[in-house]
Amino acid sequence: MSEDCKSSNTSSSDCSKGQEQNFDFSAQPHELSSIKKVIGVVSGKGGVGKSLVTSLLAIAMQRKGYNAAILDADVTGPSIPKTFGLKEKAGANEFGMLPVKSKTGIDVMSVNLLLENDTDPVIWRGPIIASAVKQFWTDVIWSDVDYMFIDMPPGTGDVPLTVFQSIPVDGIVIVTSPQELVSMIVAKAVKMAETMHIPIIGLVENMSYFECPGCDRKYNIFGDSHVTEIAQKHHIDMIAKIPIDPKIAEACDNGALEAFEGSLLENIAAALEKVNAKPKTKNRRFECEDCGHIWEVEPCTAGGKHGYEIPCPQCGSMKKIKIGDDGQRHTCGGGHHEHGHEGGCCCH
Ligand code: ADP
Repeated sequence: MSEDCKSSNTSSSDCSKGQEQNFDFSAQPHELSSIKKVIGVVSGKGGVGKSLVTSLLAIAMQRKGYNAAILDADVTGPSIPKTFGLKEKAGANEFGMLPVKSKTGIDVMSVNLLLENDTDPVIWRGPIIASAVKQFWTDVIWSDVDYMFIDMPPGTGDVPLTVFQSIPVDGIVIVTSPQELVSMIVAKAVKMAETMHIPIIGLVENMSYFECPGCDRKYNIFGDSHVTEIAQKHHIDMIAKIPIDPKIAEACDNGALEAFEGSLLENIAAALEKVNAKPKTKNRRFECEDCGHIWEVEPCTAGGKHGYEIPCPQCGSMKKIKIGDDGQRHTCGGGHHEHGHEGGCCCH
């Protein structure tokens, strides 16, 4: 049983009925971020091509003229930076962490962009991994992102659950391969998406077949695929079947996937454009230190003012305290309420 269940007045039977899901675990993106749509890419296990599909989705939308970004939540198997040939480490400014831009301008954040040595393993327990992913959402400044793709950790365990509870994901793409127990994997992913009230955009079958370069014959290396029937059974769209192609593996290994010619997932743009975007930010609440007035300010928009720069609407004072989502007052030391963004203010 969770700590929340133990400490609340709910009976254990309430908890077993999913009472926990009523708590709001949602996390606010960084105040300077602007993110329109968030798409999670999930799979039943590792090695089926989830990172490849995440990368191809971002590349497809970037080629369409949108600003795409990738949040690499697969913390223990972070392969996105390699796929894009990113060598530079992620930087930061006084307000937060900054993603690294790929050659075509896709913003990427991954644990491998923070480790001194990208062959160092991440030996962290689940809650630490989950909180690192959460920080990629809350502490990274994602500027002007139209489509953010999250390379989720495989499976339906603790980390993906926390990610889905903290980040307002607008839609899910499920990646399978023919050698997986596809029927069970899809059923699990569908149940998880339903529980989290997230629409499923569709299913991608990777490593679906191999096309002989000499005779163009297609070979189903892993046997006949039943993924189309499974998709129909769950009323999910079959988005694409990606072949096994040594050129794909080579492009990933050489960090040159962006230069890969071909339109493996180009058809998905229309489906992504139709996805409804949930609000990504809540209003921020402040309390005036001079007159005690409490008011709400809409989150910062590009070119707009931050809450910290707006005077109290009642008395005009610039002295204010931020009220957190938990209702706690976050006082800022050193009198920098008046100047919002001066070094390390707890308001951020
Ligand atoms: P996951 O994210 O599910 O663990 P990856 O996307 O990292 O899987 O893929 C695992 C490996 O398989 C990578 O080296 C990738 O280049 C290779 N790979 C994935 N899909 C294909 C494909 N369709 N053809 C050839 N190689 C592939």
